[in-house]
Amino acid sequence: MQKFYLTTAIDYINARPHIGHALEKIAADTFARYRRLRGDDVHFLIGTDEHSLNVQRQAEREGITPREYCDRMVVAWVDTWKKLDISYDGFIRTTDPRHESAVEQLFRRIHDAGHLYEGDYEGLYCASCEDYYLEKDAPNLECPLHKRPLEQVKEQNLFFRLSAFQDRLRALIENGELRIEPPIRRNEILGLLREGLRDVSFTRTNVKWGVRCPVKPAQTIWIWFDALINYISAVGYDHDVELFRKLWPADAHIIGKDIIRFHCTIWPAMLLAAGLPLPKLIFAHGFVSVEGEKLSKTLGHIIEPSEVLTRYEADVLRYYLLREIPFSGDGDFSWSRLAERYNADLANDLGNLVNRTLSMVRRYNEGVIPSPGAGDSLETQLQALAGKTVENFCAHFDAYDFKAGLEAIWNLITRCNQYVEQTAPWSLAKDPAKRERLNTVLYTLAESCRLISLAVTPVLPRTALKIRTQLGIASQAVNLEGAFRWGQFPPGIQIGEIAPLFPRLENPRK
Ligand code: ZN
Repeated sequence: MQKFYLTTAIDYINARPHIGHALEKIAADTFARYRRLRGDDVHFLIGTDEHSLNVQRQAEREGITPREYCDRMVVAWVDTWKKLDISYDGFIRTTDPRHESAVEQLFRRIHDAGHLYEGDYEGLYCASCEDYYLEKDAPNLECPLHKRPLEQVKEQNLFFRLSAFQDRLRALIENGELRIEPPIRRNEILGLLREGLRDVSFTRTNVKWGVRCPVKPAQTIWIWFDALINYISAVGYDHDVELFRKLWPADAHIIGKDIIRFHCTIWPAMLLAAGLPLPKLIFAHGFVSVEGEKLSKTLGHIIEPSEVLTRYEADVLRYYLLREIPFSGDGDFSWSRLAERYNADLANDLGNLVNRTLSMVRRYNEGVIPSPGAGDSLETQLQALAGKTVENFCAHFDAYDFKAGLEAIWNLITRCNQYVEQTAPWSLAKDPAKRERLNTVLYTLAESCRLISLAVTPVLPRTALKIRTQLGIASQAVNLEGAFRWGQFPPGIQIGEIAPLFPRLENPRK
């Protein structure tokens, strides 16, 4: 068993989960489920980022403590991930005392190793980004992301000598020890490193809701330093040596493309400064737009996963986001496209294949999976395609290309539906001399449905279980190593109750 430690970005507590957050968690969850299916010992971490000036101000406005505010806000996140079947193993909150202690400890370690120095900082600050901007990057002195006026801040802070790490980082990225995917993001980071890195201020005076700086107690530690440490504090750094040794370094950090600078320069430099191993891969995904418009709360272009879940099951949203949006690039959420995908891919292709297979087993063989006969070239081709399908979809999933992986699986589903038309079991059933041929066809279809149920498990966990329950094999092992081989459906099994997986939508609301 190989360990695989997978993380996503932790989410800012002072917002509600939208479809963009859902894309990241669903993709990471699919990857975690996929690795478990391959037999790996997966540890999948998500969480919330709870310290910040914005949280402090919002709590003040509401007359409650920041902690009370966070405890109230975290509920929406945990609830959403539960409804979307996000199978995380750990949920880290940056207000967890063990996390706060890890932040202090790592800060002291970097300080004692001589990587911090006192300096004056005067600059333009965005409280939403928790970051400074140079005038050249901020037209009209507004935050380029939040379009709000930047604040002029002057403080005496502790600075991290990030510039001292730029050559080492560049070498590590170029020689592949620190992998950044997709290539466009790797090139972006190499470009930043060629321009040269500026030192960053690691402490703040104006932020009260943060981890107290252990060497300068009048200040708090910069929110990004605090947040990035979640990846190690959640797996035992500074409190469980054995767990930390088992899980760190992370095998993959999955993040959005807007935060690669923090994850691909500051984070690895912090780890190098502390003498800790670097994560193996940082994968930056793209963004989701809504009906062709950029996600924006102020402009009303926001969709919350809960809104989709009032009309569709979680599996449908999971499928749509991974099939429609290339994970390494950008894509769009649209209600009409979602309805189209639902009817075409889920109701017609997958749902219909399973339903007609089971109905024919019931009608022509009293609901019992028959023993197959020898078969001819049609069966040989289908078996070969099934074998090729698992190779293909695994290769695509390994590269975080869920769209291509699903296309490979749907190619097999389409082929199976063609096979039904080619073999016409309803005609075979009329001729007792063709009994063996009919048995072969029914078996081939049932076995294909079993293999398809395994392949779709990471993306459609509930549907996969429904398929196996209807096939009568819910208690069988679910894995890709032993179980994904042709011919393992035991003949003589009585199928379960048949129910449509995805009832067709006649008048989908747009
Ligand atoms: Zn901003």
